[in-house]
Amino acid sequence: MGTEGNLTRKAQEAGYEYVTDASGLRAASGPRILGLFANEEMFQQAPEGEGAVYDPPVSLPEMTQKALDILSQDPEGFFLMVEEEGIDEMAHQSNAELVIESGQQLDEAVKVGQNFAAGDPDTLVIVASDHETGSLAIEDTNEIQSDPAYPNESGAGRTEEDGPFRVADADKKFLVDWTTTNHTAEDVPVTAMGPGGESLVGVYQNTHIHDAMADALFGPASASASATASASTASAGVQKMPKTGGMAPGGPLLALLVGIAGFALVGRVVGGR
Ligand SMILES: [Zn+2]
Repeated sequence: MGTEGNLTRKAQEAGYEYVTDASGLRAASGPRILGLFANEEMFQQAPEGEGAVYDPPVSLPEMTQKALDILSQDPEGFFLMVEEEGIDEMAHQSNAELVIESGQQLDEAVKVGQNFAAGDPDTLVIVASDHETGSLAIEDTNEIQSDPAYPNESGAGRTEEDGPFRVADADKKFLVDWTTTNHTAEDVPVTAMGPGGESLVGVYQNTHIHDAMADALFGPASASASATASASTASAGVQKMPKTGGMAPGGPLLALLVGIAGFALVGRVVGGR
């Protein structure tokens, strides 16, 4: 559509229902919806005590549920990506309290995806991150870490320790400490449920996630075999040619990608039913 002119009007001319708030989203029936709920981010990022706010006008789980309601009507399946962005941005601000709150919203959105997958076993749900931010460390509280030979090295300014925070369902507390306000090269966790999820076991390059999704969507070995699949069962399928050249009719395949910078959700068709 390009970048010239009134893009929301162009979207509507192309058949998109344009909504700007929660009630509009709830009323929209699809199958194409453009929902823009903020000028940029749906939160205010800042260090603690400097005006940070995490209170999205439409919650991530609600957007996720609406997307699933619309996309799951397509008999050819779907790919949905859902991203939670507050986790990354609040980590750039070394704001552990709102990193945790953003993460809880992500948890809720993942739960929506898992509930959908529970009712549709052809669904693959993947939760992943694009990177780590801040080199976030979980530490004992200073009361516990009282041995002078092992001091809690807090740092100063924005990256000093945050907390203490309460451990869920326990009488314990923890601190969050930061090394940097930027992205890091630390390994990040990936979890998956559903058909094809077994290929995401182990340690691998991030590009392997693409290959695993392509395998799930289009059949084994549809993706490049160059990815390092040695740590996963995906290597068993690497020599095979794709079973189909494209989407096959059948049940939806859903992949849910979640990041420390956000989370995404993907769905598509595999096999017949
Ligand atoms: Zn970032």
